[in-house]
Amino acid sequence: MKRARIYMDHHATTPVDPRVLDAMLPFFTEEFGNAASRSHSFGWRAEEAVEKSRETIAGLIHAGPKEIVFTSGATESDNLAIFGTAEFLWERGKHLVTCGTEHLAVLDCCRRLANRGFEITYLPVDATGRVSPDDVRAALRPDTILISLMVANNEVGSLHPISEIGKIAKEHKVLFHCDASQAVGRIPVDVEAMGVDLLSFTAHKLYGPKGIGALYVRKKNPRVRLAPLLHGGGHEGGLRPGTLNVPGIVGFGKACEIAGDVLLEESSRLRELRDRLHRGIVSELEEVHLNGHPELRLPNNLNLSFSYVEGESLMLAMDDVAVSSGSACTSATQEPSHVLKAMGVSDELAHTSLRFGLGRFNTREEVDYVVGRVVESVKKLREISPLYELALDERRGSRAGGLR
Ligand SMILES: *Cc1c(COP(=O)(O)O)cnc(C)c1O
Repeated sequence: MKRARIYMDHHATTPVDPRVLDAMLPFFTEEFGNAASRSHSFGWRAEEAVEKSRETIAGLIHAGPKEIVFTSGATESDNLAIFGTAEFLWERGKHLVTCGTEHLAVLDCCRRLANRGFEITYLPVDATGRVSPDDVRAALRPDTILISLMVANNEVGSLHPISEIGKIAKEHKVLFHCDASQAVGRIPVDVEAMGVDLLSFTAHKLYGPKGIGALYVRKKNPRVRLAPLLHGGGHEGGLRPGTLNVPGIVGFGKACEIAGDVLLEESSRLRELRDRLHRGIVSELEEVHLNGHPELRLPNNLNLSFSYVEGESLMLAMDDVAVSSGSACTSATQEPSHVLKAMGVSDELAHTSLRFGLGRFNTREEVDYVVGRVVESVKKLREISPLYELALDERRGSRAGGLR
């Protein structure tokens, strides 16, 4: 029998949608112009394609095209938002507010700023991975210049109460940055309704190419000003010099156009598949714990801890299924995920966690196959687990009237 190879790691990256690739291809060959070339039609055509994409991309998050700055991805967007604000506003204040479950692209920027004399407040999260708006309010000080919180977590999918926090930020005249890499294209994102001033996102999480992303920078109420990270030309309103990645931008635009068209239908389809995966697994296995919020999370995310089974061993046992254990970004280290840790999950359970991320091209057949592989692999691994053996013995012991 042919062995399946199933991809269920869509929080790490997504395949390029064939329609996106088709839209990009001409911009590598015939339409290869530099969008900044003003003297000929090669340049004009490239610029036209870039501006059309910018409008589509802005539309998906309810922004204006002038509020979109192209970057190399969400990591760069996070860096530009955080360092750009810090460098522009340091004379007004040197205090930032963020949270322990953020992506390293945010946490590492904050750590760097802390080394340069800024103060960072790391808000706690509850057991489901969410911050409380009251904690945000309580953390604000006269010298606070930025709140940075993600819309949706990349490991457990939990959604922060962004609109409520946006209101608090506005009341206190503090800028609000959101890393929305996991949210854009998966759930509705509206920078006006959410009260967000800066928003990072990236094409490769929504079926676009890698290496292209954007930072939304609010133009009015208030007009946000940033210092650039890179220097060398006036591109992107002076915020991000360098020749534009035209094929990437065209692909990003097409990906956003498709996302806008299919978002509601796709998210309900993925939610159904995700719930089917979850039900299938827990109906066959005991001691499986859900990490994250049961409802307020991304429709395609499922993060489970399988007691007595190392996540790494489980992944090896079902190596025809692509998922991830701990955090994909830090799984080179043996440290349990910083996200699960911040949520108060014990190291023991964190080590047994697996993240499933469903996507556009996953089918119901694939979900059923994955249920089978997970159940079979967990049972096998538990059979040879001394910890599981011990737990069973204990349970038998107590049932037999506490012989121990
Ligand atoms: C993927 C991801 C990033 C990094 O995006 P790149 O485009 O790969 O730099 C940042 N933040 C979050 C929440 C992500 O999921």
